[in-house]
Amino acid sequence: MRTIDHLIVGSAGGDATRYGDVFDPNSGEIQARVPLGTAADLDRAVAAAQAAQPGWAATNPQRRARVMFRFKELVEANMDALAHLLSSEHGKVIADSKGDIQRGLEVIEFCCGIPHILKGEYTQGAGPGIDVYSMRQPLGIGAGITPFNFPAMIPMWMFGVAIATGNAFLLKPSERDPSVPVRLAELMREAGAPEGILQVVHGDKAMVDAILDHPAISAVSFVGSSDIAHYVYRRGVEAGKRVQAMGGAKNHGIVMPDADLDQVVADLSGAAFGSAGERCMALPVVVPVGDKTADALREKLIPAIAALRVGVSTDAQAHYGPVVNAAHKQRVENWIQTGVDEGAELVVDGRGFTLQGHEKGFFVGPTLFDRVTPDMSAYKEEIFGPVLQIVRAPDFETAVRLPSEHQYGNGVAIFTRNGHAAREFAARVNVGMVGINVPIPVPVAYHSFGGWKRSAFGDTNQHGMEGVKFWTKVKTVTQRWPDGSALPGGSEDGGPSRIQDAFVIPTMG
Ligand code: NAD
Repeated sequence: MRTIDHLIVGSAGGDATRYGDVFDPNSGEIQARVPLGTAADLDRAVAAAQAAQPGWAATNPQRRARVMFRFKELVEANMDALAHLLSSEHGKVIADSKGDIQRGLEVIEFCCGIPHILKGEYTQGAGPGIDVYSMRQPLGIGAGITPFNFPAMIPMWMFGVAIATGNAFLLKPSERDPSVPVRLAELMREAGAPEGILQVVHGDKAMVDAILDHPAISAVSFVGSSDIAHYVYRRGVEAGKRVQAMGGAKNHGIVMPDADLDQVVADLSGAAFGSAGERCMALPVVVPVGDKTADALREKLIPAIAALRVGVSTDAQAHYGPVVNAAHKQRVENWIQTGVDEGAELVVDGRGFTLQGHEKGFFVGPTLFDRVTPDMSAYKEEIFGPVLQIVRAPDFETAVRLPSEHQYGNGVAIFTRNGHAAREFAARVNVGMVGINVPIPVPVAYHSFGGWKRSAFGDTNQHGMEGVKFWTKVKTVTQRWPDGSALPGGSEDGGPSRIQDAFVIPTMG
C-alpha cells in the first residue's frame, strides 16, 4: 500500500501507528494510506520551523517575493499533473481541480507584491523632533488546518500570505485528500523556500489538538465544518494563540420576479451541483420571490437537472463527479430522506445513483426539493451534496430575512434586473459575501474571504490585507534624536521642558 508521508525536515516517516485510508472516489477503492501523526511528529516539525524562521524573516521581502514568483511558475508548469492528482483523491472533475489550483495561485500572485504591501506607516513630526512609524512583523510559526474540499486553494490562501510575510508554516491538510498539499510544499522548496519554512504534518483530531496546544505555534488558521471550527477557535484562543476559524455554510440565492430565469437556471446548475455540491460557496438554497416566479423556475430547473451528466472525474463531458467517500455519500442520502420525512416535496431524487462500470464509486445524483420551509432541519443544516432546495418567499422582505436569520452567513446571491432592490439587499443582508447576479461570489485574492455568524469564528478574513493582518503583528516606534538645538514649536532639546514634565504622561500638545 502506497503511503503519503509527512513532509517534515529530516524525518518524513514519523511515529504514526495509526493510518487513514485515502480513497479513489470514482472506483470506491482505497488507493493509499496516510499516517495519522503524533505530538512527537509535530515537535520535530516545530523544531525545524524554529531553526528556519528567523533567517527567513530577515530575508528582505523582495527576495521572499521572488520565491513566490518561482512557485507560481512551477505550479503552472505542473498544472495538469496536480489537477489529475487532486481529482483522483477528491473526485471533482479535472477542469474544476484546475480552478481550485488557479484560485490558490491568485493568492500567490497577490503575495508577489509583498514588498509593497508590507510598507509601514510613517508620521514625520508627530511632535517636536519626534517621528512615529509602524512596521508589520511576522508572528513566528503559524499553522493551517484545512478541509478536503479545496485541497489546493485553501492551503495556498494560508501558506502564501503566512510565508510571504516572513513566518514559517505547518500545514495539516485533510486526511482525505492529502497528496496535493504535499506536492505544493515540495514545489515551494523547489522554488527556493528554505527547509523548514513549509512543512506538512498529517493527522486527525490528535494532530489538531497537538497544534492547538503547542506553545511555539503563534497562530492557527482553520477551515472546515462549524462545530470543529468553533472547537478549534475556543481551544486555540485558550492557549493564547491568534485564531481564525472558518466554518460551514448554507448559501441562499434570491430570485426576484424580474430576473432572467434562463440565466438563473444556468448559474444555479453550476452553483448547486458543481463539485457535487461540496463547496462552502455552493448555492444549495434558492428563494424565488412569489409563487409565479417559483413555478416558472421549477419548470425550467427540472429539464436542466435531467441534462446534468454525472461521471468520473476524468470525464471531460461530466458536470460533476463523485462525493469524497462512502460515509459522505451515506450522509447526503440520509439528509434527502430527512427532507422527505419533514414534509418537503422531493421533485428529483438522486439517491441510489450508480454509474455503469463504476458501481462502487461514491456518486450521488442531482436532487431537487420544493416547498422546503425554515423550520426543517434539512434546511437549517449544511448537506454539502448535490441537493438543491426551493424555499418559496412571498415577498422581498421575507427573502432578505431568510439568509439573514440562518445560522450560517457565508455567501448569498440575488438575481434581479432592479439595481435598487440589489443595492438594498446587499446593504441589509446579514451575510459576509454577497453576489449580485453572481452565483458564487468568492472574492478575488486582493480582497478577502470570510463569512459571518457560524460560518467564521474570529475577526480576520482569509487573504488580501485581512490575511496580511492575521499573519503579522504591528510594532510602532516613536523616536527622537535630540542634539540640543532649539526646535520650532518645542523646547530646546525637543523633550520635556521642565523636570516635572517627565512625570506626566507624554503628549504631543
Ligand atoms: P472537517 O471539519 O471534517 O475537517 C476540517 C479539518 O479538521 C480537517 O483537517 C480534519 O482533519 C480536521 N478535523 C476533523 N475532525 C476533527 C476533530 N474532531 N477535531 C479537530 N479537528 C478535526 O471538514 P471537511 O469535511 O474536510 O470540509 C467540509 C466543511 O468545510 C464544510 O462544512 C464546508 O462548508 C467547510 N468549508 C468552509 C469554508 C469556508 O471558508 N467557510 C471553505 C471550505 C470548506
